Amino acid sequence: MQGLMMNVPLVITDIMRHAERCHAGTEVVSFTVDNPRHRTTLGEVFRRSRKLANALTRAGMGLGDRVGTLAWNDYRHLELYYGVSCMGAVLHTVNPRLFPEQVAYIINHAGDRLLFVDPLILPLVEKLKPALSSVEQVIVLTDDAHLPASAIDGLRSYESFIAGEPEEFDWPDLDENTASSLCYTSGTTGNPKGVLFSHRSTVLHNYAALVGDAFGCTRRDTILVVVPMFHANAWGLPYAGPTVGTRMVFPGPKMGDGATLATLIAEEGITLASGVPTVWQLLLNHAREAGVRLEPLRKVSVGGSACPLAVMEEFRERHGVEVLHAWGMTEMSPVGTLNTFPWGFENWPKAEQDALRVKQGQPAFGVQVKIVDDAGHELPWDGRTAGIVKVRGPWVCSDYYKLGHPSESHAEPGWFATGDVATMDPDGVMQITDRAKDVIKSGGEWISSIDLENVACGHPKVLQAAVIGIRHPKWDERPLLVVVPRAGEAPTREEVLGWLQGRIANWWMPDDVVFVDSLPLTATGKISKLELRKRFTGYVLPTA
Ligand code: ADP
Repeated sequence: MQGLMMNVPLVITDIMRHAERCHAGTEVVSFTVDNPRHRTTLGEVFRRSRKLANALTRAGMGLGDRVGTLAWNDYRHLELYYGVSCMGAVLHTVNPRLFPEQVAYIINHAGDRLLFVDPLILPLVEKLKPALSSVEQVIVLTDDAHLPASAIDGLRSYESFIAGEPEEFDWPDLDENTASSLCYTSGTTGNPKGVLFSHRSTVLHNYAALVGDAFGCTRRDTILVVVPMFHANAWGLPYAGPTVGTRMVFPGPKMGDGATLATLIAEEGITLASGVPTVWQLLLNHAREAGVRLEPLRKVSVGGSACPLAVMEEFRERHGVEVLHAWGMTEMSPVGTLNTFPWGFENWPKAEQDALRVKQGQPAFGVQVKIVDDAGHELPWDGRTAGIVKVRGPWVCSDYYKLGHPSESHAEPGWFATGDVATMDPDGVMQITDRAKDVIKSGGEWISSIDLENVACGHPKVLQAAVIGIRHPKWDERPLLVVVPRAGEAPTREEVLGWLQGRIANWWMPDDVVFVDSLPLTATGKISKLELRKRFTGYVLPTA
């Protein structure tokens, strides 16, 4: 027997319609090149999304056409999020921090016909333009007064592109499985791979992002969207905010600038924020040096790489801010697990609290997880056995866009192999020990670089730490600890190793410590182990 419930398609258009009726007055604040404190409302954003949809139609865009963006977080990018997807075209958010050849590869592979570009990123597009085979027109996200001079043919401003268009647009009735957006993974090995989201996956992911223990958006909050809108749909916040009427603040190109973020938090009354750990380290540094308290911030969501305990402690103890540690990836829209604390957690001994804090948490409802060995056999959830993480769910990708060959990650039907290695506690709390490609294999056993980094970061003189495996004649590989000291501090090798003593298993002790000024970052702001390994190719450990 079938249930007697309406089969209403799950489409992003309905998020927009709902927000327009219920939250039209909710403010949206952006830092843009032409205005460091632009103010508008959701109602105005959606009015302009309709003008945009008319302009896109006039430019020949229709169902399934790819529209690229090379843009920072601001209200115009938000208009594109809705205008493009809701008219049935595909919003392709391109990461401008990738290598230029990769940017060109991605745009050509996606077949983007129009490209919307931030003025600050235009020089990159000018350089690449001759190689962009599918791009018919480049539109700069500004007005005519601020349009940079350029050699690109037919270049125009966003404001002139939508000017004069009708404010009404008849949004099409889309099938819920229609593609809505496209985002390429950074492709640390081989070419970047495209993840093609659908209206349905986006709406279901939105429900998961909105449960109380997730990002925590409410109608009384203001969220600082630091995670870039070219990175996994900015974790779904551009949809979650309008759904419940959260005030949104977009930092534009200033997302890596601790001082600007601190100013926005204070002046705009930010209560929630989301981003990768490296950004939070910059903000905390600034706050420490400037002697400011991050008020009224109450909760920060951290994901993209493991959040060091020291970052969580500084947020909590100096600023009274709760940290939500989350794990996910572009292929998962991106939410996979959320680390929340059970009833009575406040009364646990500190060591036990800390042990839970550093974990990545339980699967969000809708995501199924298993860990497997190299042969694909499922491993127990005993908190000790580490295995490859596989996932499934309605917002997990079922294949890559136009890959051209079978996807190895989807070799097991119905499951996606994430490439991460983790343990699972009996109650489903996951702890990532490494990316499979970063695992350190010493004498046939795995050493978790993430655990070591976490403990090292707890040393008061250590700002950042990264651990990589270095060839060793006896053990195959042994850990090398690379440390960035805090400003004005000069920790010694012995001090750092002494700190690790008793905090980690003896056989995990790094064979050497080196001090550097900074660590190489990936295009998504994470520490690039690949680059670091390259830097230390041929390094000889004192124990070798
Ligand atoms: P990229 O490959 O460009 O970094 P993603 O953002 O999709 O793109 O990266 C996802 C990966 O980031 C995950 O597979 C995992 O290795 C890592 N990651 C994400 N969140 C966490 C976390 N909380 N702890 C540890 N690793 C994480």
